[in-house]
Amino acid sequence: MKIFDIAILGAGASGLYAASLLGQKNKIIIEAGKNPGRKLLASGGGLCNFSNKNMGAEYYFSQNPHFIKSALAGFKLQEFLEFLEENNISYDLRPSGQYFAKSSKAILDLILSKIDKQSTTFAFENKIISVVKKDIFEIKTDKNVFYAKKVICALGGPTYKKLGGSFSAFKLAQSFGHNIITPYPALCGILWNKKQKEFFKDLAGLTIKAQLSCQNKTFTEDILFTHEGLSGPAVFKLSLYGLQNKEILINFLPSVDFKDFILKNKNNTKLPSNIFGEIMPKHLAQTLLKDFNKTLPDASKQDLKYLEGLFCAFKIKVQNTYDYDKSEVCAGGIDTKEISSKTFESLKGKDLYFIGENLDITGQLGGYNLHFAWASAKACTNAILKKL
Ligand SMILES: Cc1cc2nc3c(=O)[nH]c(=O)nc-3n(C[C@H](O)[C@H](O)[C@H](O)COP(=O)(O)OP(=O)(O)OC[C@H]3O[C@@H](n4cnc5c(N)ncnc54)[C@H](O)[C@@H]3O)c2cc1C
Repeated sequence: MKIFDIAILGAGASGLYAASLLGQKNKIIIEAGKNPGRKLLASGGGLCNFSNKNMGAEYYFSQNPHFIKSALAGFKLQEFLEFLEENNISYDLRPSGQYFAKSSKAILDLILSKIDKQSTTFAFENKIISVVKKDIFEIKTDKNVFYAKKVICALGGPTYKKLGGSFSAFKLAQSFGHNIITPYPALCGILWNKKQKEFFKDLAGLTIKAQLSCQNKTFTEDILFTHEGLSGPAVFKLSLYGLQNKEILINFLPSVDFKDFILKNKNNTKLPSNIFGEIMPKHLAQTLLKDFNKTLPDASKQDLKYLEGLFCAFKIKVQNTYDYDKSEVCAGGIDTKEISSKTFESLKGKDLYFIGENLDITGQLGGYNLHFAWASAKACTNAILKKL
């Protein structure tokens, strides 16, 4: 019976990066798919938005918001950039602060090239079924049984099944007594209900800058009307905080002083959709004004309040967001109150570590989730290297 020092479960961003940092330690990487890094390859539309210049715990959402601070402090973006440069991997810094590679494949290939082949066994097409700890860990897959002294669970979350998304990490954690913070799809669009679909049907394909708010969060960025619902960066960012059954407010005129605009047009006898059509796409104005059939000079104070609500605080009750297969990440996950923030070791099971997206730490849109995959892998492998 062969016993590995370390078994890394999952050949995604965090698992592969962890393997690359473990040098010549005797290890196995167990992966359900045929190939490594499938989500990493798809990330950033193939350009891998691997990090962000604006970094800090405030860009992450978790029931335990301070947990991430230590890992972020221990992983220096500058060092990662130098690592890319030393290996001739070019990247761009966009005005938004997002770092993109020239290709996701270049990042994946670089990480793979840094995994010491002599000391590493790859077990692809091995779907992990269970992990139990006797004296050592026994890892059962659908094909084999592997043994290891330490386990790093880097199995990710359930989004994009076709890219390896699964609930396996949550099941494994639960089998060791871990609590799971209720997961939900995040960094995704919202779906219209029947009535909303009918109301917005003429707008499919329209992108505009708007201000979206829900509870105490507000984002002013592009929104995109689709046939099924509302998408775009502002919606994605808001979805991190959970939108199901909540009400969102849309200000379609975030850079217009509405009262001033009305004052200037109070004697304008044109159709209101033509008047508003001068400061926003006309078909959006027509859609919003479907049920309004007065001119501005005829509008009462109450009518003007109604118009202000329509244009600056349009209410949408969200029934559903897109599902896991159309969401970038899963929010919620393994409760970090039961994980060491310094080493990522489970407080429920010695020598068991959890890194990456399976934890209840979800980054905002913009490279934060991959940054956490790297940072958590680094904290965990530092701790393991000190022990071995
Ligand atoms: C389309 C898309 C685009 C994205 N773009 C970006 C981006 O540009 N920037 C960014 O920061 N984030 C992005 N993300 C999110 C980011 O890719 C993930 O947060 C990140 O990959 C998480 O890394 P991980 O190692 O935790 O999990 P993963 O990379 O998902 O790796 C988990 C691995 O575990 C394997 N696995 C799962 N279950 C089992 C099992 N039972 N047995 C064996 N193996 C199993 C999976 O096949 C997978 O290879 C994107 C996500 C998607 C879906």
